[in-house]
Amino acid sequence: MDSKFIYENIKNRLSSGVSAVDIAKEAIKRIKEDENNAFVNIFEESAINQAKIADEMFKTKTQTSLTGIPIAIKDNICYKDHKTTSSSLILKDFTSPFSATVIKKLLNLGAVIIGTTNCDEFAMGGSTENSCYGVTTNPHDKTRVSGGSSGGSAAAVASFAVPLSLGSDTGGSVRQPASFCGVVGLKPTYGSVSRNGLMMLSSSLDVIGQFGNSVSDVEVLFNAIKEDDSDGMDMTSQNYKTKKSKLNKRIGIPKSFVEKAKKETTEVFYGLIEKFKNDNYEIVELDLPVSSEAGSIYYIIQPAEASSNLARFDGLRYGNKKEGDNLWDEYIKTRNCGFGNEVKKRIAIGTYVLSSGYYDAYYNKAQLARQALTNELTSVFEDVDVIMTPTTLTVAFEVGSKQKSVDMYEEDKFTVIANLSGVPAMSVPMGFNQNLPLGVQCITNHNNEDILFNYGKKIEQYG
Ligand code: GLN
Repeated sequence: MDSKFIYENIKNRLSSGVSAVDIAKEAIKRIKEDENNAFVNIFEESAINQAKIADEMFKTKTQTSLTGIPIAIKDNICYKDHKTTSSSLILKDFTSPFSATVIKKLLNLGAVIIGTTNCDEFAMGGSTENSCYGVTTNPHDKTRVSGGSSGGSAAAVASFAVPLSLGSDTGGSVRQPASFCGVVGLKPTYGSVSRNGLMMLSSSLDVIGQFGNSVSDVEVLFNAIKEDDSDGMDMTSQNYKTKKSKLNKRIGIPKSFVEKAKKETTEVFYGLIEKFKNDNYEIVELDLPVSSEAGSIYYIIQPAEASSNLARFDGLRYGNKKEGDNLWDEYIKTRNCGFGNEVKKRIAIGTYVLSSGYYDAYYNKAQLARQALTNELTSVFEDVDVIMTPTTLTVAFEVGSKQKSVDMYEEDKFTVIANLSGVPAMSVPMGFNQNLPLGVQCITNHNNEDILFNYGKKIEQYG
């Protein structure tokens, strides 16, 4: 697809009088031509209605930066009277009775919610191969995955079907697919965006993230949905204020950690670091022993929280239900038929680490390690503006090539540290290997998204 369907162009067209209805129709046409299986549902009727409202806003000069802009949302963000399924069989026929706070914010601004995007079931995975709708392939190479879990949202932007999309990031689900698909993906500070209406995976890690074709596009979307006045529906959301920090042009590189990536990745990464050096940035070598073990901490806390969050899917209140001989039998049949293998595996791990005999050995220990990791990471920001790592170990892998969970879990090494500590992190395209995109991850301190945008734009300038 041609690359003209980007935020800035659409905004200019709308300002010069093109109707939002025509833009919405163009987006719908593009989505129908999508060859990557990036979309789960297209909301044609409501999208056209919203576009009409957007046209009115232009007429009355009440438009905003998002009026008339088509936006896709991950299939785990609730939208009133629309299907929201978390790409799971257990919710395949579920229609949401309410809208997430982010949806309400976008609609108030005149944005056009165009459809939902494919993801790994309940956002567990790194390839969308765990989706009940099948894999979303990579727009750069259809034999490869788009990444996950928000692979559909990344592919939708990368293929220019929509200019902007939302995903969720619990351990890397926005940044990893952004890296694989060659777009920008932001995981903002934990609590900076209301989680109300985001289907809960692991509540202490989840955050709604943004995809765009450039850093400034992502900035516009983040600013539109950040919590400026806590909605009272998510007790962990804050009244977000960016810190407007002063930059000291110092970049931290955890060298031995970075070396865990494949050579094809580190070569591109160090090429970028050279450009910063030539631009008079100081490079500080970091030792992050606890963060280097973040994968082990994450894969205890994440399944523990997921197992309790997913307990609500019992077939009694919502979702698909299977009949059984008695209540217990019904639970078993519903959950057994409704959940896929990865989800079952995480529930098993989660309930194990939370069980009375192992709680101290695993869950409590992981919580202590998480605190140590947060201290290790945040203390670094007294000295450097950002920590940089590659976002992923490799370029996008081939569909079906990482069938063993542990191989897939390895992929999250660099990204989970930001979720465990709650700090913001962003993936920005840094180059190509084998004609496939690679992203650099910039991590900074809580509420310092402005630093990420600043560094991200620099990386874009270096080209
Ligand atoms: N790949 C990670 C996992 O499977 C991250 C998922 C996410 O961020 N939602 O847990």
